[in-house]
Amino acid sequence: MPPECPKAAPWTEADLLAALTAPDAEALFTRAHALRLQTKGNAVFLRGLVELSSICARDCLYCGMRRSNLNAHRYAMDDDEILACASLAQQLDFGTVVLQAGECPQLWTRERVAELVRRIKGETGQRVTLSLGERSEADTAAWRAAGADRYLLRFETSDRALFTHIHPGAETTPGGEHPRLAQLRRMKAQGYEIGSGVMVGLPGQTLRSVARDLLLFRELALDMVGLGPYIPHPETPLGREATPSEVPATVDFTCRCYALARLLLPHANIPSTTALSTIDPVHGRERGLTSGANVFMPNLTPANRREGYLIYPGKICVRAPEADSLSALHALFAKLGLRHVSA
Ligand code: SAH
Repeated sequence: MPPECPKAAPWTEADLLAALTAPDAEALFTRAHALRLQTKGNAVFLRGLVELSSICARDCLYCGMRRSNLNAHRYAMDDDEILACASLAQQLDFGTVVLQAGECPQLWTRERVAELVRRIKGETGQRVTLSLGERSEADTAAWRAAGADRYLLRFETSDRALFTHIHPGAETTPGGEHPRLAQLRRMKAQGYEIGSGVMVGLPGQTLRSVARDLLLFRELALDMVGLGPYIPHPETPLGREATPSEVPATVDFTCRCYALARLLLPHANIPSTTALSTIDPVHGRERGLTSGANVFMPNLTPANRREGYLIYPGKICVRAPEADSLSALHALFAKLGLRHVSA
């Protein structure tokens, strides 16, 4: 292998556990950032996040959009509104839009999403990442045929018992495989770039299971790793639960995971997530972008819709107009010697 093509680190579960719990992680962050500069240069990719709808048929124990949360505000954007968000991404030279929504196949039908993808690609030239939850092989095939480039579906935790507990009614696959892993593998075969990831600090989550999550990122050969701290939402069962977590939902721990994900997958795209900025609005982004992350996902959801997409409380971008946050972002990139590249 030539030096410009670094290989995944041969970490074992024990190595990862040691790195996750070492007293100090500065050397790890420095190593991951250096590797990111080697594989991605000083480029930061911006992906415009568009939160299409907060209507959700699922009842995930941690999420503020769960269907049993009767106090949640529900909305759904129409196609022209979504196209306007994609045009904004084009004007801002982002290169990619991420269409994310609560899971609702009645609203986001196969045909409607395929048409949306075709229009966005045709009218704005943006690449399209879909994040519409668990969907059938026929749906994702149709969207891929319409031009969708990437799909983001976090597996949330590799601990099957914990996954089943926090996802009531989760589908059971014929071979007993984690339903989201089955979908990720299918989509890889369909030609998508696949993104996945987890929350860290879930009640009942163990450090060992996070080490296994990281190994699974490598095994799945993810193109994108999205990972953030779990933030309790008071109107969810998990938010009210007192079960402690062995895993700290901290900036330091999240950044250790970014750094290890970078070492395991040197070429992956790793966003510094909104949840990380939410738990540390002052330093979160900088910490993420200097510990292995190379992507940032500014929220392009129209301001009057954002308050409706409260998967967890205190979400950072709910009030900030995108122009303000973008100039701050560019100043941060300059300070860190990084630059926005459209991709
Ligand atoms: N329906 C889509 C989008 C869900 S929201 C899907 O299932 O893929 C996107 C991500 O937000 C989830 O994958 C989850 O990892 C994260 N999330 C949800 N609730 C959260 C919480 N309370 N704290 C932190 N992250 C949360």
